[in-house]
Amino acid sequence: KKRLEGKRALVTAAAQGIGEATARAFAEAGATVVATDINAEKLAELDSVPGITTQVLNVMDRAAIEAFFKDEAAFDILFNCAGTVHNGSILDCTDDDWDMAFNLNVKSMFHMSQAVLPGMIAAGTGSIINISSIAAHKGLPNRFAYGASKAAVLGLTKAIAADFVTNGIRCNSICPGTVQSPSLNDRIAAFEDPVAARKQFVARQPMGRLGSVDEIAAAAMYLASDDSVFTTGTQMNVDGGMSI
Ligand code: NAD
Repeated sequence: KKRLEGKRALVTAAAQGIGEATARAFAEAGATVVATDINAEKLAELDSVPGITTQVLNVMDRAAIEAFFKDEAAFDILFNCAGTVHNGSILDCTDDDWDMAFNLNVKSMFHMSQAVLPGMIAAGTGSIINISSIAAHKGLPNRFAYGASKAAVLGLTKAIAADFVTNGIRCNSICPGTVQSPSLNDRIAAFEDPVAARKQFVARQPMGRLGSVDEIAAAAMYLASDDSVFTTGTQMNVDGGMSI
């Protein structure tokens, strides 16, 4: 039997990066996957993947989330991946930057989890996996709003884990180190000296390299599968030693 056979999984931010890799990995492991994103064009590339159906969903739009769940059967797995990096210190951060960081990185998880939980409670089983970051617990330069919002993800995760631990529902977070993804390329390209910037991003990991999206998907796979049934409320660092 495949690792996720018989399970229905919902993935946010699935058009690229960690979300895409995880949607593909879940499907390959036998899950029925609904892959969602706001980027309809990129998302459509997943339409031909066996086991995956796609659906445009803006996780910052509560009405859209409610409409989406109205038509869906219960999910066994929710992978909350959508998030954005605000670059800068507290002195660079506007209220709009702060609100954007918290709305996309945290409030979306509140709304998605709130919507998925009734189905999981009725089924008596479920695994919610939230993408946080090493920036949640290690102070990093120019990650003020990002670090604060990703730390909030850890608190949200533990609160959900505590409330539904007797319902067969688990909630865990993953803290990636620096991972090669499309948006990392954008962040590096924004530096005056992109070559030096890439070296600095690489140097953050004592392993001397960036992580791959597949390495984060592998952690998500563990937390989604029954291999981790005794694990809830925890955070898993997948970071090339960044947090040692
Ligand atoms: P990415 O940033 O390259 O892609 C993000 C995806 O999210 C895009 O497809 C985008 O269309 C989608 N998206 C943006 N706003 C959305 C919305 N409102 N609703 C639905 N989808 C939306 O991908 P990534 O770099 O793999 O990052 C994914 C997650 O991993 C983020 O939460 C990020 O903070 C976290 N993370 C990334 C790294 C890294 O180094 N790449 C490290 C730690 C944590």
